[in-house]
Amino acid sequence: MTGKRVRITGTVQGVGFRPFVYNLAQQFQIKGTVRNDANGVDICAAGPETVEFIEALHASPPPLAIVTSFTVEDAEVAGTPFTILESDGRGQKRADIGIDAAVCEDCLRELFDPQDRRYLYPFINCTHCGPRYTIIRGLPYDRASTSMAPFPLCPQCRVEYETPSDRRFHAQGNCCADCGPRYNDLPRAVRTLQEGGIVVIKGIGGYHLACNAADGHAVQRLRERKHRDEKPFALMVSGLAGLTVNDTEARLLQGVERPILLLDTDRPGPVAPGLCTLGVMLPYAPVHHLLFRLGGFERLVMTSGNRMSEPMAVTDGTRVLGNIADFVLEHDREIVTRNDDSVVRVMAGAPVFLRRARGFAPAPVPVDFDADGLVGCGAMLKNALAIGRGQQVVLSQHIGDLSNEETYESLARTAEHLFHTLGVTPRTAVCDLHPDYLSTRFAESLGLPVIRIQHHLAHACACLAENSVKDAIAVVYDGAGHGTDGHTWGGEIFALRKGQPSRERHLAYMPMPGGDACVEHPLRLAAAVLYSKGITLKDMDPVYSMLEANVNIHYTSGMGRLFDAAAALLGLCTHQTFEGQAPMLLESAANAGTFDGYDIPPFEPAALLEALYRDPSSAPVRAARFQNTLVQEAADAVLEIAARLNLGAVALTGGCFQNKRLLEGLIQKLQDRILVLRHRRVPANDGGIAFGQIVATQIKEMS
Ligand code: ZN
Ligand code: ZN
Ligand code: FE
Repeated sequence: MTGKRVRITGTVQGVGFRPFVYNLAQQFQIKGTVRNDANGVDICAAGPETVEFIEALHASPPPLAIVTSFTVEDAEVAGTPFTILESDGRGQKRADIGIDAAVCEDCLRELFDPQDRRYLYPFINCTHCGPRYTIIRGLPYDRASTSMAPFPLCPQCRVEYETPSDRRFHAQGNCCADCGPRYNDLPRAVRTLQEGGIVVIKGIGGYHLACNAADGHAVQRLRERKHRDEKPFALMVSGLAGLTVNDTEARLLQGVERPILLLDTDRPGPVAPGLCTLGVMLPYAPVHHLLFRLGGFERLVMTSGNRMSEPMAVTDGTRVLGNIADFVLEHDREIVTRNDDSVVRVMAGAPVFLRRARGFAPAPVPVDFDADGLVGCGAMLKNALAIGRGQQVVLSQHIGDLSNEETYESLARTAEHLFHTLGVTPRTAVCDLHPDYLSTRFAESLGLPVIRIQHHLAHACACLAENSVKDAIAVVYDGAGHGTDGHTWGGEIFALRKGQPSRERHLAYMPMPGGDACVEHPLRLAAAVLYSKGITLKDMDPVYSMLEANVNIHYTSGMGRLFDAAAALLGLCTHQTFEGQAPMLLESAANAGTFDGYDIPPFEPAALLEALYRDPSSAPVRAARFQNTLVQEAADAVLEIAARLNLGAVALTGGCFQNKRLLEGLIQKLQDRILVLRHRRVPANDGGIAFGQIVATQIKEMS
């Protein structure tokens, strides 16, 4: 009979689309079929109410679906009762990989219902919730191509799976205590936490280290065993009670993505020493809800389970983390893909990614060119990988700092997995200009043509592309990146016009005696910069003799380095133990009621550090003045360039825009004068570089 064929693409597999279509078809008495194919969902429909059926389909897809295209054409349709057909795995793959979603309200109700057959079962899930990306080996998304394959459905689960009216109809991850994965000893984990012990927990995208956050000794013990003296821990809290959050923050915390949200706080205490923010998330896996309910906790430390600088562990919890923990809570479902917790902060009214991973990756970002086969390999720190597929770029989950074998392995595995799952044939590798980054080595190892992109140009392109803007100014305030002149850049203002980038302004170069030694000991950098002003600091003779002899001096225009030097000069951080520590401490120390800055020549680190040095005010006041000065000089430069080059937009990007004062200050100064572009889907830090690298292949080299 004559009917319609509907093709839907986007994130439409593994989100309950087929059962949803089936139930809708029953409602409208539609004949025909639905099936997953490599492009998405393919529906054939016929009957008197076909138009209404298609309208309903279009108007309200299932909650986890992201529809990117919806096409309807005439077709000949078999007049048989509506059925769900086997998936068609042939052809080029274009379906998206679903995200790992937090357990839904319906499943939670069952989890704590003594009458329900899944009462207290920690792997409860349905078509609208549960893991996807972390268990998928390939598309189309079927149980056989996930790490649920070794768990055959029991008769009862099978009935649910096959009953169209059931909410677990065709739920690929469906399982129960009789047939599904199991934890080794949940009651023991609860007891250990109650007794102040440390528990390693195998979860959705990896292992966590947990302890009762209300127990100061337990937190201290975790710090000691993890050899982590100062880096902040994330907290998992039982609910929103006791938190001060605005509507945007509450929505983010409760969303299916369940990121760690950085909240402003006056008293972070031992969990995040010296900082003005606290990382908080709500329970997302059923096991988290069980731990809170059975143990009566309010807050648990829930930090990534990794050894020093290695990525989060995904297998062998006992071997990798057993020496840190008093008990290891294991389960027997394989984690196919590592996926750490995402970290988000709300700034100027909108969420900003500090780490983009679980819940968000690998959702694609649309671009306006054919990116097929382009592979962005990212930078050194906060590495993530980007893969072009048609007019989309799939940005991988956060992979980490490529400083060791494990992380490099993780990069290579993620690449392999995504090429295979997305059905992309890699064509061209795109990497950073820096010859020694392991991501550059990785790009060279692929045996493909290699395109090298200047680091900060990649930042700029990422921000422009996600805002669909071509010509703009870009303020790129960042840590470090290899410049086209061989120096290290990072305090840059570019202009992009008709695909031609130019470097309009930059921080004057600062000498770094001993190179990276200045990052760990930022007072050395402050001393080296101030030396040109005739100012000498105590105990810095080795620095001065290096300057005099002019040996082993690197030069940088990095804004992150200027923050380091300022933090050191203010006595806030003289020994940096993790990346970004000094800038975070400076931001945290800054007095919120100080609005003035220093009247000095712009883009001159020596002048700014001298002003800080000579200012007799308190450290919080000087920290605020330092940031205010940077905001004012950037705003002035942007408006000058905009007028001179006739540009109407400015992008704010680079790791320094994780600083709330800087981002909000600059938006406030500029938004009435020029269109301000900010990151929304992609991190401003190096987590967004891989995406920007792919975009930057479409423009000319820096002039
Ligand atoms: Zn559910
Ligand atoms: Zn079962
Ligand atoms: Fe960067």
